[in-house]
Amino acid sequence: MSSDDSVSHLHTDDWESEMEQLLAETEYDTELGLEMAKDAQRLVAGELSEAEFYERYHGAVIEEFGVDDRPVVEAFADSEDGAGLLESLAELEEGGDLPRREAMKKLGAGAAVLGLGAWATKENTDVATAAAGEEDDDEDGMQYGMVIDLEKCDGCLACVTACSQENNTSAGANWMYVFTYEDDDQDGENFLVRTCQHCSNAPCEKVCPTTARHKRTEDGLVLTDYDVCIGCRYCQVACPYGVNYFQWGEPDVPGSELDPDHVFDGRGRRVDSRPPKGVMGKCTMCPSRQDGIHGEDKVGTTACEEACAMDAIHFGDMNDPESDPNQYLEQVRSEKPNDHEHFPNRSSDTVSTFRLLEELGTDPNVVFVGNEPGPNARQVEGPVSYEDIGEVDRRKEVLDDGTFGGGVAP
Ligand code: SF4
Ligand code: SF4
Ligand code: SF4
Repeated sequence: MSSDDSVSHLHTDDWESEMEQLLAETEYDTELGLEMAKDAQRLVAGELSEAEFYERYHGAVIEEFGVDDRPVVEAFADSEDGAGLLESLAELEEGGDLPRREAMKKLGAGAAVLGLGAWATKENTDVATAAAGEEDDDEDGMQYGMVIDLEKCDGCLACVTACSQENNTSAGANWMYVFTYEDDDQDGENFLVRTCQHCSNAPCEKVCPTTARHKRTEDGLVLTDYDVCIGCRYCQVACPYGVNYFQWGEPDVPGSELDPDHVFDGRGRRVDSRPPKGVMGKCTMCPSRQDGIHGEDKVGTTACEEACAMDAIHFGDMNDPESDPNQYLEQVRSEKPNDHEHFPNRSSDTVSTFRLLEELGTDPNVVFVGNEPGPNARQVEGPVSYEDIGEVDRRKEVLDDGTFGGGVAP
């Protein structure tokens, strides 16, 4: 991989040593985690194919974890070479009169180079052939996300409190985080409200050896299955938004005190509320609410959205033009851009919207109204401190110049 590709600027020496430190605290291979994270970011930026990425680490992942549950076969089937090779292999095997070794020989060097021989079982070829025939319907399906109006935010941190209470997160696990910052190009105090972006092209999911980190097919939420996560922290290193929080010790709130209705989602998977010890956690966008477990009136809502008195957070299906976030965006765009009575922080004559670090190719599902923090944005004390609301601001210790400029903070 050339050193001048579009994401290499992310991988500074500082980033690398911070990530090395973070991975060294686990029992798993630091170098593997670091290399996979870099390549996952290249993958989402379109600089590496899925098949290349999965194949490149297949052997090392098996060696380190004993399994590779990543969708290796499906990615290979989707690739240009892979689909043809797998079809041929399946046909040869179906004939039944050709031993596998002979079949592989007939398929030629391509199969060996791509590592096909290692996992070309009958079961895998069936999976791959089915995957190759599947239509990619992500574009049309439901995709939960948010529109967050930074021009309405007053930095009250009510959303932070609501999230931590709803999910019983431990001190310092700032699933919802509000930065207050000053910027050379913007007047006064500005805010950035940061959740997990529930990316459509999530690098955190690509690196997970166990598929604990996964994207729900029904609504696009990116979740962690707490019963499957082994705590390798690879997802944390691969995510460019710094939204993952590893649960080191026993959680502040023991499992016996959690509301069981707020632990499992509609599929019966343990993905909601704070993670147990040794497991990764992050903003979930409240899946048990979305699955109707708390009643129909909670579907399509999140705890942070409910708590925001400024009506800055709008949650819903980003693929539905009639959803609350899309309707809100339409309304904002049609209003007078210099309406200072309702938008006191607005500094420009046009309504600006942006998605955070969109240029990385992650396809984030949070759209912000307001100005994007520039590369010289500096975090400052907000009008309400985390201490004031009884929270520990762990972000502040690890933040600095990397946060807004595309750098990666743990
Ligand atoms: S913000 Fe990070 S953790 Fe969330 S989906 Fe995107 S890459 Fe994954
Ligand atoms: S979700 Fe768990 S198993 Fe998967 S990459 Fe993250 S820490 Fe590792
Ligand atoms: S609750 Fe609303 S106004 Fe308060 S910090 Fe959160 S987004 Fe901003």
